Amino acid sequence: MSSAIIVVDVQNDFCEGGALAVAGGAAVAGRITELLDERGDAYAVVVATQDWHRPPPDTNAGHFALDEEPDYVTTWPVHCVQETAGAAYHPALRLPGDTVHVVKGDGRQDYSGFEGTALADSGPTALAELLRARGVTQVDVVGLATDHCVRATALDARGAGFDVRVLTDLTAAVAAPTTVAALTDLARAGVALDRS
Ligand SMILES: [Zn+2]
Repeated sequence: MSSAIIVVDVQNDFCEGGALAVAGGAAVAGRITELLDERGDAYAVVVATQDWHRPPPDTNAGHFALDEEPDYVTTWPVHCVQETAGAAYHPALRLPGDTVHVVKGDGRQDYSGFEGTALADSGPTALAELLRARGVTQVDVVGLATDHCVRATALDARGAGFDVRVLTDLTAAVAAPTTVAALTDLARAGVALDRS
């Protein structure tokens, strides 16, 4: 039985000073690095996802609010545009050299890492297939933001048949009400809410 950790969207635009900053994002980046330094060897696979959108005027299927105020529920300010500093991993996040990188949201609204493309040595693949091919049965999910992309990634991992934990102290959220709802959804789906 092998485990993987999925580090969700720990990118500059989601941390303090970014286009769509989550309070506590930079601290989460540092704590994830500590976990990987101390216990990273326990994971057969380390995965990191990046929100990876097309630049305006592409709205990425309505994900970017360009001519209106974003509602911060389904529409958002421009963020994580491909090849920009905002889309880069936060500098406090240090990933092992053999990390599997997943990009998502290329012209689309993707919230879950399982909707993205895993950039494996053997070529682009779906994340669930890659994890299964490496014998992974259990997945820990950490990163940003608890109430959106962490939620969606953990629910999809569960739906794909993995045993899933969200390590809540290694996540940070956009807003309190949506976080309460997200944690309820996760628990109902059989995702364990744990601490690192
Ligand atoms: Zn996005």
